[in-house]
Amino acid sequence: MSIFKRLLTNKTSSSSSIIKNSVIAGTIILSGFGQDVMAKGKSYVAVEPLVCDLVKSIALSSDEVTCLVDRKQDVHDLKINPRQAKLLNNADKVFTLGKEMTPSMRNWENKKNTVVVGVSAIDVDDHSDHGGHEDHSDHGGHDDHSEHSAKVDDHSDHGGHEDHSDHGGHDDHHDHGGLDPHVWHDPHNIIKMGNIISKSLKKDISVFNRGDRKLISERFEKVDSLLEGLDSWIVEQVSSIPEGNRVIVSKHKAMEYYGDAFGFKTISLLDFLGDSSSLRPDNISSTLKMLEEEKVQAIFPEQIPASKLLRNLSRQSSVPLASNQIFVDGLMMDGNTVSVAVHNTCTIVDSLGGSCDKDSGSNLESEWYKLSD
Ligand SMILES: [Zn+2]
Repeated sequence: MSIFKRLLTNKTSSSSSIIKNSVIAGTIILSGFGQDVMAKGKSYVAVEPLVCDLVKSIALSSDEVTCLVDRKQDVHDLKINPRQAKLLNNADKVFTLGKEMTPSMRNWENKKNTVVVGVSAIDVDDHSDHGGHEDHSDHGGHDDHSEHSAKVDDHSDHGGHEDHSDHGGHDDHHDHGGLDPHVWHDPHNIIKMGNIISKSLKKDISVFNRGDRKLISERFEKVDSLLEGLDSWIVEQVSSIPEGNRVIVSKHKAMEYYGDAFGFKTISLLDFLGDSSSLRPDNISSTLKMLEEEKVQAIFPEQIPASKLLRNLSRQSSVPLASNQIFVDGLMMDGNTVSVAVHNTCTIVDSLGGSCDKDSGSNLESEWYKLSD
């Protein structure tokens, strides 16, 4: 064999082994790529910060969860900008409390990829003194209808949200007598929301991938048990408040689920004062009378500094303002879903003559952080 031929043969054999190797490499790359596609998972958008925190706690770490709205933004007054519209359009799924909390979701709710987890999608306990819930109290078992079918449409006709979107404050946006959207103040309702999320996430996973579905179930179970722990913790803190003191007075109807769940009477000042633009002396005097009759211990501001109206009421009635605000419309600037419940509870308990075990509350808060690690 000539040296040339030998070289050629060698070259052929070595190039065939290169081909062989590259076939193997290609297989590895391809299967690696395949796994990567699966591992990349889905891209989800959650509208309200609290819902976003909840979705992150349940979704797989390989899923991408984007929070649509900044914590500073009041979702009651949200206007969807082009960037946000793009995010909503590109998401595999959109999770939201729904139009009762976030009126601008009105046009997105009926889209196929939108999953409503708020008041219209869960079976909430009735507020006895609150119109508009009655028709829902008798047909149980909403927990699992993540498709939120006809029920949502039933409410599409109670408009009156639009006219509030342009005046910054919280003044009267809860005056509309529709469904009260502040469901998460009762931790059991967060569990129901989480249940819808978990079922919906599992639907996105291939039938062959039992492992990931099981993982989501396990993550939801942790959320569930932590929220049960939060619920018991709140019950324990509230039990330290003298019974006659268990009245929460705040500006707008947002703490009713909390009141119902933990045994408070809740009073919304807007029910007495009406629209702040129509403030009348007789409204003021009936408010002062109520504060006295109910032996109200504290008025809870929803923002700090408290409004002039609240400060005046406090001065005239000698009922102190709570030293801290309560956060009624979602998450605080820092912290998670548990943090806001702990903060509100300790503010309420300490202001009404009880004593709050903040340290054990902080432990629950850190446990929640671990969920989305
Ligand atoms: Zn609100």
